[in-house]
Amino acid sequence: MCYSRPCKCSCDMVMISSKKEFIKEFSAGAFTYGVVEENGVKYKTIWMKLPDNSLCVIPIEPTGSDKINWSWDGNIARPTLTPSILHWGLEDGIQFKAWHGHITEGRMESE
Ligand SMILES: [Zn+2]
Repeated sequence: MCYSRPCKCSCDMVMISSKKEFIKEFSAGAFTYGVVEENGVKYKTIWMKLPDNSLCVIPIEPTGSDKINWSWDGNIARPTLTPSILHWGLEDGIQFKAWHGHITEGRMESE
């Protein structure tokens, strides 16, 4: 667990086989894939524990949809997402920058 704000840690990513197992996994860098349905549309999503241990869920398909704001390179085991990820935390009603970095070839690299 990291308490720096913003967190400046980087780590390699470790794929977890199922969302059920992922939920039990608290390590930074853990990630899995799942499907989220919204208004009848099924979105392939990537679920990640960022280096600051926050949960980040990003829809990656279908490409071309309004909901897709990140580009995924299609590499399942060592994904690259662009652009960078800026994750905000919230404490006592105040927003703080929790982590900002790049997801590149299966690594979370702090900005
Ligand atoms: Zn950190």
